Amino acid sequence: MKLSELSTGEIGIIAKVSGHGGFRKRLVEMGFTKGTTIKVVLNAPLRDPIEYELMGYKISLRREEAALVEVVSKEEAENTSLQLRSSGLNALTPSDEDKAEIEKRMKNLAEKEGHTITIALVGNPNCGKTSFFNFASGRKEHVGNYAGVTVDSKEAIFTYQHSKSKESYTIKLIDLPGTYSLSVYSPEERFVRQQLINHTPDVVINVVDATNLERNLYLTTQLLDINLRLVVSLNMFDEFKSSKAQLDIEQLSVLLGTPMVPTISRIGEGIFEVIERAIDVYEGQSPIARHIHVNHGTTIEHSINRIKRSIQKNAQIRHKYSTRYLSIKLLEGDNEYNSFIDTLPNHDEVVSTRYEEQLNIQQELGTSAEEALIDAKYGFIRGALRETYIKPHTQSKASTLRDRIDAIVAHKWLGFPLFFLLLYLMFECTFTIAEYPMSWIETIVAHISAYIDFTMPDGPLKDMIVDGALAGVGSVIVFLPSILILYLFISLLEDSGYMARAAFITDKLMHHIGLHGKSMIPLIMGFGCNVPAVMATRMIEHPRSRLVTMLILPFMSCSARMPVYLLFVSAFFPEHGSLILLGLYALGIVVAIILSRILSQWLTLPTDVPFVMELPPYRVPTLRSVWRHTWEKGKQYLRKMGGLILSFSIVIWALNYFSPSDFTNEESTDRTSYLEYIGHTITPIFSPMNYDWQMSVGIISGVGAKELVVSTLGVLYTDSDFDENDATHTAQLTQSLTAHITPASALSYMVFILLYLPCIATIAAISSESRSWKWGAFSALLSLVVAYTLAWTTYAIAC
Ligand code: GDP
Ligand code: MG
Repeated sequence: MKLSELSTGEIGIIAKVSGHGGFRKRLVEMGFTKGTTIKVVLNAPLRDPIEYELMGYKISLRREEAALVEVVSKEEAENTSLQLRSSGLNALTPSDEDKAEIEKRMKNLAEKEGHTITIALVGNPNCGKTSFFNFASGRKEHVGNYAGVTVDSKEAIFTYQHSKSKESYTIKLIDLPGTYSLSVYSPEERFVRQQLINHTPDVVINVVDATNLERNLYLTTQLLDINLRLVVSLNMFDEFKSSKAQLDIEQLSVLLGTPMVPTISRIGEGIFEVIERAIDVYEGQSPIARHIHVNHGTTIEHSINRIKRSIQKNAQIRHKYSTRYLSIKLLEGDNEYNSFIDTLPNHDEVVSTRYEEQLNIQQELGTSAEEALIDAKYGFIRGALRETYIKPHTQSKASTLRDRIDAIVAHKWLGFPLFFLLLYLMFECTFTIAEYPMSWIETIVAHISAYIDFTMPDGPLKDMIVDGALAGVGSVIVFLPSILILYLFISLLEDSGYMARAAFITDKLMHHIGLHGKSMIPLIMGFGCNVPAVMATRMIEHPRSRLVTMLILPFMSCSARMPVYLLFVSAFFPEHGSLILLGLYALGIVVAIILSRILSQWLTLPTDVPFVMELPPYRVPTLRSVWRHTWEKGKQYLRKMGGLILSFSIVIWALNYFSPSDFTNEESTDRTSYLEYIGHTITPIFSPMNYDWQMSVGIISGVGAKELVVSTLGVLYTDSDFDENDATHTAQLTQSLTAHITPASALSYMVFILLYLPCIATIAAISSESRSWKWGAFSALLSLVVAYTLAWTTYAIAC
């Protein structure tokens, strides 16, 4: 009976827990395991929740939740026997013997009931479900060869003894009508969905036509959304074999977290192995079964999560639906769930969130949310199949445009040169196109400086504005165009679907360094800014890969370091700009690779489970999405400049403007500034590389944010010999740099800036994402050691 049917004071023994995976998991965590005794503390009719006692704890469950728990009551145990040994059922005081006997029977009954498994067959029309059903049950149902023969479900009960455990099970097999999906466009779909959600079979066997995997697995991805215990029967395997296709079944099973068994259901081959895997999954004994999320890509996943959060405020529905599944269905615009949502207390919020997110997807991806979800699911399937499946030769002729692009972009040999060519183009454009807006910005800043210089009376305030604020912010703001262009490229690559291919082709390579192709995306994002990139490591499911990716990320040269390179490159190596830039980026990557190898061996975290790398459809990126991603970053950059860089520039200016002698009464000719003192104190550390004190101060201020290096140098180098000609600020800075620094020092300085301490924000992000400040500190220390060593080596080689 159901747990909800026990009345106050009664005890029961838990036989099984039904429902979707999320619900079951929660209950198991609360102690609801097979064979556990549970007592009803208070079950007042019509009152929710019901209070229970379980393993000494008080727990309350809502009635609907308790209805999903199957128990054996004392009464049931008593009724199964004809006679009790001594005084029988009606004895006023049952003997201890009777008590023990009843308890034993309850346990036995619970065990038996736990061995009754409801299994539903779900699959596309004509994939062989009915043949499966007939063979397994020994019944002869009509086997039709056209869609729509099975209109309602058939049920068969038979017993099966597991070959390994030798335990005997009662299998209740249900043959459901064929469906291509779990939307409610047809009566079959509606029916199947209701069966799965309202009657929650213990296990679902997804019968799949192996000769048509891509289409058939679409339904599988939807079953994964619902989060039920699942086994796949790869049917028509005879035809599959004669088609000369190849499939790595084991790998595909692992990727989807679902056991898969090849079957020929017409003659019954493999069918009982499927039943056995189903029992394993039911008993939690399957080494393969795990719950995975079909990843729909950043935009859609963001939408799903937002809707999910608003749905989760309704605790009363969580036993019935996986909230993730419900969110996906709402995004699809599913009618049935739309009206269901209307019954929730916060329906306004859910509905408006859903509407906003549908619109957002429409605008970002250029298709309706429903289509985008379908595309994403097919992208997931394609990614999984690309790693495991080789098409029969006959099929390859009818390839689509997408397949043809993939054939080039993800080609074994062509893929890599193309990838590097794209990266090179990206940096080349950043360097060349940005020059024009940069010179405009320079001119504007110069005009403002000149205007203030002309109108304001001389004094510390004017110095502060011109030499502090304007010089500092000015030398950083000129790089805004470069940063915007870089982000433009990154979002183009991501939105077009290329980034996923880059992840795909680099996957094998990444395995060599102990990572996955999926780490590629955060790493490339790291070229923009390390902070969002650290957050993007969330898409890596595995703790070890994730941590290693986070730790090597700071070596991906973020856009904040670009101004330093651009400044030094244009001052010292104007002829070889792109090459040196590429070289620096490459150095960062090489360091990252080496460290990743070391770290992934050194970190003793559990090894990773493989996962599907989606191959989303190619898309022409929408203007809105590219604009949004690019501008978002631009805004962050400007905000940083307004706050942090402005105040820092002024502090640096002040430290440089004032000297200890300003605050003593003695007349002193020594005008050594505070900053110079600080600089001189630490310069010896950098003497092997021949950095001057200004450069040392630059390094210190760069800890706050790497842009500050340039603004610091801007302040420190311009106030000294300010030419009264009309040369722009940057030109002057370049001049004084070349006058003070040797090219070897400059090169080594760029290397140091590339590798040393990620900025404060990145350290903070690493600490919070890894949930330990130690990793942040570790990252900081690691990068300092690496930076110093390599900067020194560079200097030694260059001079
Ligand atoms: P359902 O619509 O999913 O219930 O599929 P049926 O069980 O009615 O089977 C549809 C057709 O496929 C029938 O003609 C079956 O004989 C055939 N069929 C089923 N399983 C297999 C198989 O494993 N191999 C081959 N070659 N044919 C099969
Ligand atoms: Mg059928």
